[in-house]
Formats: sequence, C-alpha cells, structure tokens
Amino acid sequence: MKGTMIGLEVHVQLSTDSKLFCSCPTKGSDAEPNTRVCEICLGMPGSKPVLNKKAVDFALKVALALNCELNTEFFFSRKTYFYPDLAKDFQITQYEVPVGKNGFAEVDGKKIRLRRIHLEEDPASLVHESGARKSAYSLVDYNRSGIPLIELVTEPDMQSPAEARRFLDTLLTTLNYLGVYAHGASVLKVDCNLSIDGGSRVEVKNVTGFRAVEAALGAEEKRQRSVVDSGKKIEMETRGFDEASQSTYLMRKKETEEDYGYITEPDLPKVVVDSKWLSSVKAGMPELADSKKKRFMREFGLSEYDASVLASDKGLAQVFEETAKADAKIAARLVSRELAGILNYNRVKLGETKVNGKGISELVLLVKGSKVSDKNAKESLIKYVLEGISPKEFLEKNNLLIDVSSSDLEGIVKETVKENSSAFSEYKSGNEKSLNFIIGLVMRKTKGKANPKQVQEILGRLR
Ligand code: ADP
Ligand code: ZN
Ligand code: MG
Repeated sequence: MKGTMIGLEVHVQLSTDSKLFCSCPTKGSDAEPNTRVCEICLGMPGSKPVLNKKAVDFALKVALALNCELNTEFFFSRKTYFYPDLAKDFQITQYEVPVGKNGFAEVDGKKIRLRRIHLEEDPASLVHESGARKSAYSLVDYNRSGIPLIELVTEPDMQSPAEARRFLDTLLTTLNYLGVYAHGASVLKVDCNLSIDGGSRVEVKNVTGFRAVEAALGAEEKRQRSVVDSGKKIEMETRGFDEASQSTYLMRKKETEEDYGYITEPDLPKVVVDSKWLSSVKAGMPELADSKKKRFMREFGLSEYDASVLASDKGLAQVFEETAKADAKIAARLVSRELAGILNYNRVKLGETKVNGKGISELVLLVKGSKVSDKNAKESLIKYVLEGISPKEFLEKNNLLIDVSSSDLEGIVKETVKENSSAFSEYKSGNEKSLNFIIGLVMRKTKGKANPKQVQEILGRLR
C-alpha cells in the first residue's frame, strides 16, 4: 500500500466557567500559579468529584455538530499513571463508552471519519524554568488541573500534512460556531499519527498549534521516507516535535492502552442524557458553517467561493449578514475579499479589531452610491482594521469622498477638454489612452473627489 496515512487525536479545552469536577474557575490568566485549586482538583484523599453538566452539554454539541452517534448513557474511568501533573495519579476520562462515536467532518468535500469524542480532565501544567530538557527542577501549576477537555480521535483518513491542517481549520470553525472553545485563550493539542506505505504508525505527541501540526507531520513523513529508502523498517514508537530544529525525536517505544489499567470511576454516577436534556441541547445548536454557506448562496446569490469564505468565520459571517441589507453583492465583495484579505495579511483576528456591521454598512452604501473610489474604499478598510477608525469617518476626515456636484464637474471637464484639444480629438477618433488621460487630468483637478464614471459620461456627451 503506497502513500501517507494520518490520524489525529485532538484535545480541546472547553470554555466552561468552572472545571470538570469542581467549582474552581477555569479563567483568569493573571492568576498566580496554584490559586485556582481546591481539594478535588488537587486530588486530596476523601474528596469526591461532581460532574459539571455544562461540560457535558458542550461535548454533546460537538458530537452532534460532527455527525456522531450519541451515547446517551455513559460513565467515566480512571486512567492510571504516575506523573506529577496529576495529583491523584490517575486521570478521570472516558474509555469504553465515549460521549459520541462514528462521526465525520467534511473537509473539501471529503469525509474524515471520527472514531470517538470523549470528555476528560486536563492535567496540571509543568513549568520547566530553563526548558524541558535542561531544567534542574520542574514546577507544577495545578490551575489547569481539572479543566474540561474533549478528545477527538479520527480514523487515519488524511493523506497529507496539508490535509490534516485543513481538517483542523474545519474543526476550529465548528468549535467557534458552537461557542465551546475559548478562542485565543487556549490552543489545540494534537497527537499526530502517521504511517507510510502501510508501515507501522508513529505517534508524535503533544503538538500545539496548527502550523506546528503541519510541520511535525511533514518532518515525520520525511524521516519515515528516508528510513524506508535506506531499506529499514519503521518501528512503532512515540516521538516528540522539536520546534527549533523542526524535526521529531524519539521519546519512547509505544506503550499500549492496557498499560494504563483503566478502571471505572466509582465516585461518579453513570450519566443518563434523557430526551428532555437532549432536546434542550439540540435546541441550542446554532446554524453551522456548511448550512450557512448554502443559505448565503441561495438567499444572496453569492458564489460558492465568497459564501465559503464568509461562512468559515463566525465573525465575518455576522458582519456580512448585518451589511447585506445595504447591498448583498457589494457587502460580499468587501467582506469576503477585501476585509478577509486585510485581516489575513496583517495576521489579526476580526475579534481583535473594532470592525463591526455598522461601519461596514456605511462603506457599502458609499460604494453603492459611487461616493468613493475602489482604491479609497480599500484604504479605509485597512485603517478600520488597523486603527479602528470607521471607513466613513476616515473618508470624510481625509476629504476622500466623491462630492463634486454634476454641474461643477461638467465645467471642469469642459475646461480640461479646451486645454487639451489634441488629446480630445484623439479620443473622438476612438483612442482609449486619450480617454484615460483626460479622465486622469480631471481627477487630478478635483483631487480625486469626482466619480470617474461620471467624467466619462460627460465626455461622451461632449464628443
Ligand atoms: P491506539 O488504540 O493504540 O491509540 P488506534 O488504532 O486507536 O491506536 O489509533 C490511534 C490513532 O492513530 C487514531 O487517530 C488513528 O486514526 C491513528 N492511526 C491508526 N492506524 C494508523 C496508521 N496506520 N497510520 C496512521 N495513523 C493511524
Ligand atoms: Zn478545584
Ligand atoms: Mg491513543
């Protein structure tokens, strides 16, 4: 069997206010280490976990959005291991019966199957003051211990690092629509499994960030290829990714799941999601990217490209919908092409800017009324993104609105024609360049405040 197979195990921190099994807050980035803790998330003897229903709601939403079969009855298990990031020496997770199974996500028209989605608690973070491999000691911060995670496990359906990256993009879009993920506050952590030509799979553990996932997979694919090319066999093992050298390194030969000695968590009752609970979760499901895209095409006549750019970002989609009333075609162009491009280019997220539907609507109306040139419209969007000045305000302040009255303009055109009679006669004999030359002169005289289309119209009348 030729080619690359990739399967991912993705860990996502859910944006609940409190932790999975206690009422400690999950947020407050300025909190000192080990201040958002209690006897439960510190694993003190005698403490008992209490399940956060909100986290289950979130996991159910994700499972529904990713087309999973739901298990409406499930329980938790203890995954035992000895490591200081878990004070109890076990992690509460799900093993036999996850919240959801057999789902899929559609990536560029292809189905990437999801084996399971389950809930578990995040371990503490270890702080190595001078890097993981050089520090003489490690500090443990239990603020993160007990924050709810979902783990999503895909089938090995991806065939390239780039496709894996697109899968993660699609996943993130869905999580953002659902509002279950603290965008920016946390990062996705991914275990990346890769094999080539039907060989053993290697797992690259704990890669954080999308770009790093793509790079780790790319490096591992290259390494395996060179091992195979030298006539050796790939061994099943667990590796790490080193950002600095952009290469993977051996951590350990792969342990099997049985080594963790899963047992049922006796301190938590079985969870039963009854039909009332389930319908309230379903009722809270928002319109997701794919149906939004189709609706934008149907309702506003957008091209598939524009519709998918807009729908792939909850914020852009919202800005577009708020401005579509002014003029759907112009709004689609300004938002999906200009605005999205400016955000991309400057690597800023819509949520970090002051851009909103009202500001864009004003610009759409100005463009619609031919009150602004395309160039200045774009300039005003850049200022809007980077400096937060609304386009209308920027254009007004800088005198960039087209506001020469038609009678004034007619006079200026006539004057220009008189001063440039040879260019005008060339234009009359059909010379396109002379036309543009005269329009350019008029635009200069009016300091760019005339509408070039109107100038051309007047010239047409004069010939
Ligand atoms: P384990 O149970 O040992 O963790 P699984 O078979 O459950 O192993 O798979 C774990 C992850 O590895 C899944 O994301 C799966 O898609 C991926 N995977 C399984 N087989 C392969 C393979 N041959 N190549 C690449 N990835 C694989
Ligand atoms: Zn706690
Ligand atoms: Mg696994």
